[in-house]
Amino acid sequence: MGSSNAAGEAGRLLLATDWSATPLGPMDRWPQALRIAASICLNSRFPMFVWWGPDAINIYNDAYIPMLGKRHPAAFGKPAHDSWSDIWAVVGAQHKAVMDTGEPTWNERVLLVMERNGFPEDTWFTWSYSPIHDDDGGIGGMFCAVTEETGRVLAERERDRLMREAQDAARTLRTWFDNAPGFVGLLRGPDFVFELVNEAYRQLVAHRRLEGLALLDALPELTSQGYFELLQQVYESGEPFVGRGARVVLQQAPGAAPEERFVDFLYQPVRDGSGAVVGIFVQGHDVTDQVQAAAALEEANQRKDEFLATLAHELRNPLAPIRQAARLARTSPDPQQQQWALNVVERQVGHMALLLDDLLDVSRISRGKLELRLAAVDLKAVVDSAVEMAAPLIESGGHRLDVQLPDHPVQLTVDPVRIAQVLTNLLSNAAKYTDPGGRIRLSAEEDGGWLRLRVRDNGIGLSPEHVDAIFGMFSQVTAAAERAQGGLGIGLALSRGLAALHGGSLEARSEGPGRGSEFTVSLPLPLPARASEPAAPAGEMAPAAASDAAHPRRILIADDNADALTTMTLLLEMEGHEVHGAADGEQALARAEALRPDIVILDIGMPRLSGHEVATRIRATEWGQHARLIALTGWGQAHDQERARAAGFDHHCTKPVDLGELLALLGPRP
Ligand code: ADP
Repeated sequence: MGSSNAAGEAGRLLLATDWSATPLGPMDRWPQALRIAASICLNSRFPMFVWWGPDAINIYNDAYIPMLGKRHPAAFGKPAHDSWSDIWAVVGAQHKAVMDTGEPTWNERVLLVMERNGFPEDTWFTWSYSPIHDDDGGIGGMFCAVTEETGRVLAERERDRLMREAQDAARTLRTWFDNAPGFVGLLRGPDFVFELVNEAYRQLVAHRRLEGLALLDALPELTSQGYFELLQQVYESGEPFVGRGARVVLQQAPGAAPEERFVDFLYQPVRDGSGAVVGIFVQGHDVTDQVQAAAALEEANQRKDEFLATLAHELRNPLAPIRQAARLARTSPDPQQQQWALNVVERQVGHMALLLDDLLDVSRISRGKLELRLAAVDLKAVVDSAVEMAAPLIESGGHRLDVQLPDHPVQLTVDPVRIAQVLTNLLSNAAKYTDPGGRIRLSAEEDGGWLRLRVRDNGIGLSPEHVDAIFGMFSQVTAAAERAQGGLGIGLALSRGLAALHGGSLEARSEGPGRGSEFTVSLPLPLPARASEPAAPAGEMAPAAASDAAHPRRILIADDNADALTTMTLLLEMEGHEVHGAADGEQALARAEALRPDIVILDIGMPRLSGHEVATRIRATEWGQHARLIALTGWGQAHDQERARAAGFDHHCTKPVDLGELLALLGPRP
């Protein structure tokens, strides 16, 4: 071997090795084939080795040294098996095959678990074993070119792992993004091209295509709503923008008219590595519901304020004539004048009571607490009573009223009082909202399964936007409110509720302001044949006829208002009852104990002992368990009734009490 063969570490080892002590023998006796193979190997920069002879004596080059790890330099000139016992199962078998058959092998990226550095290690190699023919034609050894691929395999694995992780992260992010409660989007470049939007964003714009489109191409209705300009401002200034309750008009369905939405939103500039703004991150919430709810609340509040003002006014109105009439009744010696004054008081009190009744009725209907007392009645009777009640208003307006009913009798099963109330309302409105000398027509006709009651006038009429609004609580058309002779704006709400309770409806129609109005009550026909069935639950209220003198009762009445006590005593005595009075709670209890009355009527707010307390104590006695207890109060709310019931009362009457109603409660128990 020439001196060039001795280059490098492997070359020095080759020269330093005492080959005569190995199966190869001294170097100068090596066969030509071995010399050439060793020379090629040592002069190559590619990792190579030669295994010579049956023992596979190892000669390798410098490039191969790193693959040996700690086995170098001991492996040089030694049998391969000694150095590679850990992987001999693989490489030994291949060596034997090459030596036996002369067929070369090819191994690509094969995993070898080896212990070259003192611990087991996964390594990957690509190699080929090829036979070296001896000078005499046999196979003297084998030659191997090999590359270690461990680094590359590990790098690839790491790359794959990172890619998987990145994909997972992207998927998680996408899921978050899509499920974010608000809308999120990324707009790129000065034209604001949608790069990414989440589900909520898509929903906001009726699932139109966004990604890849410029803002105004995707959502053309945004042109001239200021958002593009706002985005430009953020893009140019790099300053974020926060919008609250901002109005945006968006198309909600293809071809549909754009709809108003309200949004809270943030425009956040997105920068590239150099700090330049390259896009805008959009994030926000659709707050339409909140904004609308707040607006509705505000409107309701305002209506409530207006209502309270009207209510105060309406309640004060009758007070002036009542006060004057009362004074007149006291001071005037003229019995005729006194009578007149009392009539005034009665009429005004009636008016106030009606007002309050309406209010309570509306509240009962809205809470589902109003019950109908159905009865079989003739349509004409109901209409007559309504006309009679509305007559004063119609006459004072100088209106003419025509009533047109079917020629044959029409039987109805309705609450006659309530239907008359509805018609009175409509007739009074017709009179109120028609200039003096107008014409009002009330007609009834059967129409399929329905009875239609129409009230038509030639008055101020209604504009289309008011036709439905007037049925709202406390709703009055301003122009009408100015001319109305009183009214709280609940008449129509109440009437519609009453019609609905009968399974019917109430609708308004008008050809426009100044062209009159028509209100139609529809009631289902034939109406249920439950003529005599009382609508109130049993025990709640007995039929009115039950309190005649055939059932005289012993009654105790307690009221700290002496006038009220006297009047009530007189009225009940006139009905044939035995009546006793008490001026406060303690007296009531004592007299009750002594008299053991059938019926005890108690005012609630009394000195010393409240009506509730008296009732509870009476109930605690043995006789008291069979007495009928009736509460009389100015408070008619549900929780007042609830309290009365809890204290032991059977009934609860709201002041001013209706005598008929009270008498009905005095009858025998059903
Ligand atoms: P009120 O009459 O007490 O104001 P209603 O509920 O009966 O309350 O009526 C509500 C509103 O409907 C009235 O304020 C008026 O603006 C309008 N309205 C009712 N009836 C008529 C009618 N016949 N013609 C014109 N407007 C009417």
